[in-house]
Amino acid sequence: MLVLDQERFDIVALVHEIADAVEMEATAHRITVKVGSGVSQPPVYVFADRRRIGQVVTNLLTNSIKYGREGGCTTISFIDMFDRVMIEVADNGVGIAEKNIPRVFERFFRVDKSRSREQGGTGLGLAIVKNAVILHGGTISVHNNDGGGLCFEFTLRA
Ligand code: ATP
Ligand code: MG
Repeated sequence: MLVLDQERFDIVALVHEIADAVEMEATAHRITVKVGSGVSQPPVYVFADRRRIGQVVTNLLTNSIKYGREGGCTTISFIDMFDRVMIEVADNGVGIAEKNIPRVFERFFRVDKSRSREQGGTGLGLAIVKNAVILHGGTISVHNNDGGGLCFEFTLRA
């Protein structure tokens, strides 16, 4: 669990693979997934455990689809920070109440139990996401967007 198998890889290609894998689910919710700046998005290399970061992106993308609004959009952006890369996963769904923001990474924490139960999760996804990012020596944070929706940001070694 604590051992990382790190290598250099293109995080943009990984995000494209995952976006393709969740496409059916996204379409069912009429949610569009946008990866970087589209076709002109250049590769972005990180040094990390590709499988573990794949789980992180899968969790964040799946959440944005499950809790996003019908007809909405999820955007994944890559920000060059010299020795780090910041990956941003933003949706335009309902977001979460400000008072719950500090709690989203807690194990078994779920906002609006009745609505969440319909979606059938356990509340472990974000706890696992945070663990994986911290294990890589990265940071992760979350905030509500000004225009509505939730935005997760995490960093990895460039
Ligand atoms: P699991 O991921 O274990 O299947 P889960 O999705 O309920 O279950 P988390 O991924 O840890 O658990 O998310 C915790 C809670 O945070 C969710 O139940 C949901 O209420 C809220 N949440 C997570 N992502 C979003 C999002 N993009 N928009 C709105 N609410 C969200
Ligand atoms: Mg989840």
